[in-house]
Amino acid sequence: MTGHAVVKGSRPKAAQAHDGQGPVRMCVICRGRFPKAELARYAQGRDGLEPDPGRTAPGRGVYVCARPECLERFRSMAQGKKLKGEIKK
Ligand SMILES: [Zn+2]
Repeated sequence: MTGHAVVKGSRPKAAQAHDGQGPVRMCVICRGRFPKAELARYAQGRDGLEPDPGRTAPGRGVYVCARPECLERFRSMAQGKKLKGEIKK
């Protein structure tokens, strides 16, 4: 009498913003989103932002995509940071 129907299937899918590409990071220059593997990581070093190919440097890291203009702009940006503290007269 008691219709105890067990409904199988229709498992809730986890909402995924990206189609299984893994972690995504934002390029600090163009603000585009890329798979983490395609971005170069830089970390704050003693002399400014330094490349961190191993992605192991402590502290705050930034990511830059592979576009030449982004790398170019990032280089000048990193140099600007390096000059921080110097006083020009
Ligand atoms: Zn970029």
